[in-house]
Amino acid sequence: MSDLIDVDLGDRSYPVLVGHGVRSELATVLPDGVRRVALITQAHIPWTVDPGVDHEVITIPDGEAAKSLTVVEDVCRQMARSGITRGDVVLGVGGGVVTDVAGFVAAVYHRGIRFVSVATTLLAQVDAAIGGKTGVNLPEGKNLIGAFWQPSAVLCDTETLATLPPSEFRSGIGEVAKYHFLGGGALDALDLPAQVAACVRIKAEVVAADELEGGRRAILNYGHTLAHAIETAGGYDLRHGEAVAIGIAYAAEVARRLGRIDDERVAEHRRVLAAYDLPMMIPAGLGDEELVALFAHDKKSIDGLTLVLDGPEGVQPVSGIDPSVLVESLAAVR
Ligand code: NAD
Repeated sequence: MSDLIDVDLGDRSYPVLVGHGVRSELATVLPDGVRRVALITQAHIPWTVDPGVDHEVITIPDGEAAKSLTVVEDVCRQMARSGITRGDVVLGVGGGVVTDVAGFVAAVYHRGIRFVSVATTLLAQVDAAIGGKTGVNLPEGKNLIGAFWQPSAVLCDTETLATLPPSEFRSGIGEVAKYHFLGGGALDALDLPAQVAACVRIKAEVVAADELEGGRRAILNYGHTLAHAIETAGGYDLRHGEAVAIGIAYAAEVARRLGRIDDERVAEHRRVLAAYDLPMMIPAGLGDEELVALFAHDKKSIDGLTLVLDGPEGVQPVSGIDPSVLVESLAAVR
């Protein structure tokens, strides 16, 4: 059983196939006329795929350090040496690091060639691999270099998640929890492939409505302002999804203080996070002033203090929040 979800972008629309074992469908989703594939992956990803055409495997290092212009140059040079041309395809097989790097390579090699990915982490399946945001880091900050470059197809093979280390699984489940509040409803009642498909459906709809992140796409950052602040402050043993979970619990507290949601809805946030065994409390040692200062530096802030908050019309970016409300709400997640 698999789900086929369309990311509707007119003549650049593409399918996302979700299900157990869907990597075996790879040859059927490659664009027509492809002769060769540059298959970008990492050494420790224990899954192989068969594109059904001649392919060159290129491995990149593990972790955020792989998201660098040096790695992009190395990969492009290997592709040039092996004769990958404009009509060929970049295939990323891995988590968000691989799909971000491979997608960016596809965006810039020969001024842009086609890109397909097989997402093998939960975070990549429900988030990173869908929507065309690609890029690498600079020493000055994460994801500062990049391009919007939509794939031609994405395969989310939930079988590959069986080998994911538990901490990486938790990182993805924090994003799954987020989708509950973006219209997903009771996702925790579904099995894993159905959960992934439901998340992809929401992300696909948001991306189709706002491909270049001019407005609505900001809702995908629900819970991320506090999460980024905790991550920027550094030194805490939390996965991204765990930081997002704390950020979601906090966003609910801010929304309640602004009269946007009631106590029952805050309790619903807590129930969902608890159902996934996700944390809801800020780690000890992070001061209010430090956190609020970091909120203002969040690159998603539009004018000063903007947070994505739940409310009567669903989750939306809200600007001009009184800093005293932000500080009071921090106390509720300590
Ligand atoms: P990751 O890509 O680093 O993968 C985590 C680890 O799991 C790696 O060591 C990887 O080799 C390994 N791995 C991957 N698949 C595996 C499998 N099936 N079995 C065993 N091990 C496996 O981490 P991630 O959480 O997938 O992605 C994080 C990155 O995604 C960040 O750089 C973030 O900026 C980016 N991201 C991008 C977007 C976007 O829209 N482009 C959205 C969210 C996150």
